[in-house]
Amino acid sequence: MNDITNTLFLRLEGPLQAWGTHESKFVIRRAGDAPTKSGIIGLLFSAMGISRKEADANNSELLKKFAKLKMAVRIDRPGFRWWDYHTVGAKIGCLSADGKIKKTPTTGQIETFVTRREYLCDASFLVAIKFEPEIIQQIHKALLNPIWTLYLGRKSCPPSIPIYTGEMGYFDNLLSALKSVHWRPRYKSDVIPEYLECLIDWIPTETEPFAPDDAEIWYDVPETFVWPSHHPRFVVRTLLKVGEDADVKIGEHIQNKASSPERPRTDYDRSTWGKVQKKRLELDYHLCVFCKSPATTVQHINYRQSSKEANLQALSDEKIMNKHIINHRTLCRLCHDAVTMLEYGEDMGLDRINPEDQKWRDKIIEKRNEIILHRSLATRKRKLYNKEI
Ligand SMILES: [Zn+2]
Repeated sequence: MNDITNTLFLRLEGPLQAWGTHESKFVIRRAGDAPTKSGIIGLLFSAMGISRKEADANNSELLKKFAKLKMAVRIDRPGFRWWDYHTVGAKIGCLSADGKIKKTPTTGQIETFVTRREYLCDASFLVAIKFEPEIIQQIHKALLNPIWTLYLGRKSCPPSIPIYTGEMGYFDNLLSALKSVHWRPRYKSDVIPEYLECLIDWIPTETEPFAPDDAEIWYDVPETFVWPSHHPRFVVRTLLKVGEDADVKIGEHIQNKASSPERPRTDYDRSTWGKVQKKRLELDYHLCVFCKSPATTVQHINYRQSSKEANLQALSDEKIMNKHIINHRTLCRLCHDAVTMLEYGEDMGLDRINPEDQKWRDKIIEKRNEIILHRSLATRKRKLYNKEI
């Protein structure tokens, strides 16, 4: 970073994002097709630890300053729209048809609202922010070490990759900034888009005092956060061509499917599994090997004999079948749940938990009792103690 760095880049990517627009009403909250300026300023304020109250102090001085920030968005993946619902409490109360505030019949408390929320799923945006170099320096520091959690428009939308990786530079204009960052496929096999749509701030100059005819007006420059109100700005939509000799170059793919470690798993078909299960249950007298309750579940203690070939052999050869079932143990539903939950926490490979192994005993009892707490009274009676009582 040097004294003339005037632009930095954010990457907004996650399973869900929601950038509210001025058409977003209280009960139905829509999401715009790209990040808004108020959303981006809110995100920067979060990183800097500036509260809404502070932003609005001294006649919204800070907001006035940040309203001058220039912003451009490149839509690298537009995502798709999705709806979800969200309950809103805060004792505001919603009105019923007769004009009275709705109350829950059983408790007499004010009912919560159900609001509908629109989201953009799986979208990815590159955002260029251009500002005075000293403010860019401050933003840079804040984004590398944010004070509050950063999210993609709505608090329920966490990013899936770091929002800021320190990418920045000096650019004459926002368009050249957007061109400088490669478009990257997620996987080698990804289809490369021909064009990327860009939304760029349009600001009048002496030579160009009037906005082009096709400029859009976005009401998203925050005037105050206390009761959100926004100034308009002009936004111009432009297409950038993608390709080796085009505006935006193609970068290295982000992930490699082939390199992700294989998950240990079984590869049974249903009839083979049925036979293995039946044999093991018979061997254990249909009793859980851990707590001796009647049981119907069979657990793997390792996945070493679970390949397709081993299964096929097992079916035809009794000896192999016997060798096969030594990798299983009968467990009741409750002990099975406890063991499985422990396994998830241990990041295990081919060897799993053997419930008969002493080293797991106390851990299984502890996990089992943890589960029992949330179960019915009948299950709660099955609590085990690790000492004699
Ligand atoms: Zn059991």
